[in-house]
Amino acid sequence: MTETTLRSPNTVLANAVQDTIDVLRPRLLASNVGRISFTVGTQINGRPHLGTHLVQSLAFLLGERARDEYGIETTVDFCALDNSPAETIRSNGRKYQLTYHHKLSGGSVLGLVTEHYTPLFDAMERKTGVPYTVITYTEQQNSPEFRAEFIRTLEFLDEIGAWLSPATGTAHIRLPCPACGWAEKHAGGTRLLDLDDSGALFEACCHEHGRYEADITPLSGGYIDLATLYRNVVKERTYRTDDDTLHVMIKGGDWAYGCQLVDGAHSAIGRPESAPLRIFTPQILGSDGGKLSKSLLREAAEAGDAAVGTTSEWLLNPAEWPGTQSDYVDALTYLGELMLSDPKHFYRSYTTTALEALMTTRQPARNQSQAQGRPRSMAIYKPYFDMIAKGEKTVEVRVAYDSMKRIRVGDLLKFTCRQESCLTRVTRIGRYRTFREMFGTEKVEAVNPHATEAEQLKAIHAIFPPEKEALGVITFEIERVDIDA
Ligand SMILES: [Zn+2]
Repeated sequence: MTETTLRSPNTVLANAVQDTIDVLRPRLLASNVGRISFTVGTQINGRPHLGTHLVQSLAFLLGERARDEYGIETTVDFCALDNSPAETIRSNGRKYQLTYHHKLSGGSVLGLVTEHYTPLFDAMERKTGVPYTVITYTEQQNSPEFRAEFIRTLEFLDEIGAWLSPATGTAHIRLPCPACGWAEKHAGGTRLLDLDDSGALFEACCHEHGRYEADITPLSGGYIDLATLYRNVVKERTYRTDDDTLHVMIKGGDWAYGCQLVDGAHSAIGRPESAPLRIFTPQILGSDGGKLSKSLLREAAEAGDAAVGTTSEWLLNPAEWPGTQSDYVDALTYLGELMLSDPKHFYRSYTTTALEALMTTRQPARNQSQAQGRPRSMAIYKPYFDMIAKGEKTVEVRVAYDSMKRIRVGDLLKFTCRQESCLTRVTRIGRYRTFREMFGTEKVEAVNPHATEAEQLKAIHAIFPPEKEALGVITFEIERVDIDA
């Protein structure tokens, strides 16, 4: 069997960092947050393709990596964009659309999420120990924070329109008709009639029911359907500095272009105090270098155009993966970890051919990073850091997350505490069902020479609730390594 060797070019960003998540470090150093939320938005419009699942899996793997590296709680917060168009029509020279939310009942939207995403999310949560939440766009636009922030942006509507729709200058605010739920897509016939601190009054036009008014307030007044860029502007502005959470938007690589316009709108309104960070994930490209697109491939196939090349069906429809669901999740995890093993593998694009080869002939991803002798970072509290640095503490105890289970004897572990670090090598690994069982084998004084077994168990149980302990316990016996060695 020939090993798939992955070679990636250097890029401006990859060259500036040692690890993909180093881009979070400046903000973490400047603030004192207790939590990182990795936010992913996905349009709910039928079956996802591999690219969608890849972005979502990467959110979990980034969450796992950030938790282990920075010693901070992380979550994945998934937004199911049920405002994507289910139907569009053209009438009197204008386009109108009906969202999935307005076409389906709320239960059906959640049914789509359950069918296409929940199995992957549950599996990734189990693998990484990173919990997730799901919210629909409908719920998001209904929150007073989102609505109030939207109303605040309207004072700058001309400037926002100029950035978000540079060709026409009209921001796409869709206020569905109260009678039928359809809304004008490009909002050319939508006018802001009145605006004050308490709300905004709009006039819009339905292709069937004529003109109607929409009175939008933070607590009431109907559905606000914002086009993608505008939604991102409002969403990013709802994150507040007094929030204990660092928000990181996980976006497909093609967003790197689109964010210019989002940032233009932010600067027109006035930069938010704490704009969220963004991480752009690798783009998946068809054989002609264009972004993998189901509709484009379908059109090309119908037109008998072979130029876009053939693509394995499972890349477009993961249900066609030639193996079990759990094997699919393993292959996605392998791919994500391979990308995260080197920033050069992450901050780039991949063709479908390359991805197919990597996912079907997968080799352990750890070989890639370990081959470079790169130590794995582990954040640790100051008292324990000092004990390791003095050589007093020779056994480190962790919950057996998958990321921990991949560590092998001989691997380098770099313990970090604020600006200090201490390099060690793993000499032995222990696996236990509970912390109590662990102390049956591990020497109490090797874990912490300054506390009794009872004191240590009390402290450990205070840090790790039963549901974490249920994942199992792993210990690493370590020895100090001379930096110059
Ligand atoms: Zn109508």
